[in-house]
Amino acid sequence: MSIQYADIIIDIVHGAVDRPFQYRVPPSLSGKLSLGERVKVPFGRGDALRDGYIIGFSESPQVDPARLKEIREAGEGEATGAEQLIRLAAWMKERYGSTMIQALKTVLPSVRRVRPAKKRYLVRTASREACESLLEACRKKRQKARVRLLEAFLEDDALPYGMVVQKLRVPASSFRALVEQGICRVVEERQERSPIRAVKGGARCLILTDEQKAAVDGLLSVWDGDRRPSLLYGITGSGKTEVYMELIRRVIGEGRQAIVLIPEISLTWQTVMRFYREFGEDVSILHSRMSAGERYDQTERARRGEAKIMIGPRSALFTPFPNLGLVIVDEEHDTAYKNETAPRYRAVDAAIERCRLAGGMAVLGSATPSAGSYYRAQNGEYHFFQMKSRAVGESLLPSVEIVDLKEELKAGNRTIFSRRLTERMRETLKRGEQILLFLNRRGYAGFISCRSCGYVAKCPHCDVSLKLHRDGRLHCHYCGHEEPAPKTCPSCGSRYIAGFGTGTQKVEEQVKKMFPEASVLRMDTDTTSAKGSHDAILSAFANGKADILIGTQMIVKGHDFPRVTLVGILAADLSLYSGGYESGERTFELLTQAAGRAGRDRLPGYVVIQSYEPGNYSVEAAASQDYEGFYWQEILYRKLLHYPPVYRMLSFLVTSKDDAAAEKRAEKLKRLAEGLEGVEVIGPAKAPVSRIKDIYRYTLYVKSEEEAPLRAVKEAAARLPWDGQVLYQFDLE
Ligand code: ADP
Ligand code: ZN
Ligand code: ZN
Repeated sequence: MSIQYADIIIDIVHGAVDRPFQYRVPPSLSGKLSLGERVKVPFGRGDALRDGYIIGFSESPQVDPARLKEIREAGEGEATGAEQLIRLAAWMKERYGSTMIQALKTVLPSVRRVRPAKKRYLVRTASREACESLLEACRKKRQKARVRLLEAFLEDDALPYGMVVQKLRVPASSFRALVEQGICRVVEERQERSPIRAVKGGARCLILTDEQKAAVDGLLSVWDGDRRPSLLYGITGSGKTEVYMELIRRVIGEGRQAIVLIPEISLTWQTVMRFYREFGEDVSILHSRMSAGERYDQTERARRGEAKIMIGPRSALFTPFPNLGLVIVDEEHDTAYKNETAPRYRAVDAAIERCRLAGGMAVLGSATPSAGSYYRAQNGEYHFFQMKSRAVGESLLPSVEIVDLKEELKAGNRTIFSRRLTERMRETLKRGEQILLFLNRRGYAGFISCRSCGYVAKCPHCDVSLKLHRDGRLHCHYCGHEEPAPKTCPSCGSRYIAGFGTGTQKVEEQVKKMFPEASVLRMDTDTTSAKGSHDAILSAFANGKADILIGTQMIVKGHDFPRVTLVGILAADLSLYSGGYESGERTFELLTQAAGRAGRDRLPGYVVIQSYEPGNYSVEAAASQDYEGFYWQEILYRKLLHYPPVYRMLSFLVTSKDDAAAEKRAEKLKRLAEGLEGVEVIGPAKAPVSRIKDIYRYTLYVKSEEEAPLRAVKEAAARLPWDGQVLYQFDLE
């Protein structure tokens, strides 16, 4: 047992992440150091003692061991902000099977230094008369650049430097001459590139409802006591944001900082402004459209403790706050919180771990919590708070109808709109109200269904739908089962069996044919590729610029549409067959959210859900907005089929440039897992996306009631060296 060398990065503020240095571990510290730990090491000329962080261990030296220096001291006391982030990276590496460097690059995204933006101005210092007479002289000498500059100075006293150089094309030599002549000088104004340009408005003055008060009191006592994670389950409009803000006020009042995670798509201007009105300059935001420089400024503000609240999508979790106290994960069920590249972390779990490291508190909020989080709240693993009513106005539930699409086809209706939906659309347009048509596209690609009887091709072993691949065969992404695609429906013999591929564009064409007088907007990846067009379409619709908005997931979040009174869900079941044990949950979430968009502003709302499987519990529960009803069914299903959160699952993603090698490795892992007691193995199979950038991908799932066997499988897998990469993910709880 001899870990003798440690890889250390020095002083992360200077961004040495790309270059770890190796040090010897002295016998006195042997076995006592851990990943992410802060140590003191001699560094550079004169061997001054510097802070460093351990990011890896090895048993062999990379250079002549005599040339390696020794670690002097191990860190003591509280972990610093940076140390916590590096420990978080170590946790990610362990839990999600990435390399340490991949994990570090995730938690320390801003190591690349960007020069802060400086605003420079040329300011006129001489009198107008002096300028005019010099202008005369320059004209005579045909010094055109100076002429342009002097003319500009006669109009404006101060000229932005960039404009002078680019627009007036004045070379530096020319204005230097003018500076020397005392005509003008360069003034620098250091300016933080703040993404928030509005002014602080008046603070809100509202009185919390009884439910909100109860939630706030409960959460504050968690803060004062045992800081296990909390789940705040509150219906849409129950005022969760106000609860968060109360909690944040307390936390920053005690000199600590808070992170609020919001899925990017819901991170609207209105949301940000609510925080900004409340907390002003203490608030900072991050989002993916910011430049590297803007991000750098925001993180620096946080590091220096100038910003106390960071709002942003999942990457905001890695804000280097010196003394983090609180992480709120709003809409914690959202799939945007899953990172799809290595390390494939789940932001909810990472947030909880980060809070644990910081001695802080994690609060998960949702109107439709993930089955996993709700399960943990029921088990007492999380604290649980609930808000059942709206903060303002009574909660007018929309009236929901479910239409059976099989019946439509039987009645000879081959269009994508049921008779009921068509009728509702006509009524709504007549009343001058707006319509939202939602096309659930998630996972529709590839699965095939019968339009006569609703039959969906499923795997005989796995209870997930089979997907049609380019080879014309149906594949199971869980166990690898495959079979030829049927030409006629195996269940009823109908020829109407095909991949479901209705796109938003096709929907738009049909709508225009049926309602030529209505104006239609469409929102999907085609229409929103330009920067900002996403927001532009949504606000155009919110401002009544169109009668009908057609779109995918994108339209069910964020913006409020007060004049929408009809929501049509064109094919509710599609995500039921997206494969994966979470597809019922995804369907329920999407339908609930979509349905919740109807009739928000006193006008009565209608929802028509078109479905091939109207009796499915995800569809039925969504129609009656019955989260608990859904949850108990879903948990039963997970129990029966041994899926998380009831069972624990370890999923492997084996990737390699060599297809056969990846498959062989996956098979090897399978044999290794099968040798252990108390585990079930599913797979291996090609991953849903079986090749990315010429890297082949295979998945393997290992389930167990206990955590220990899964850990053992993982450990054993790690001991088999290989030049491909094996990523894994624990669904432990
Ligand atoms: P949620 O996030 O739970 O959907 P919000 O926090 O966005 O709900 O609140 C919904 C609306 O109700 C917002 O417009 C908010 O300003 C308002 N609101 C929340 N709490 C109160 C309150 N106690 N009194 C008056 N209005 C409130
Ligand atoms: Zn299968
Ligand atoms: Zn059929």
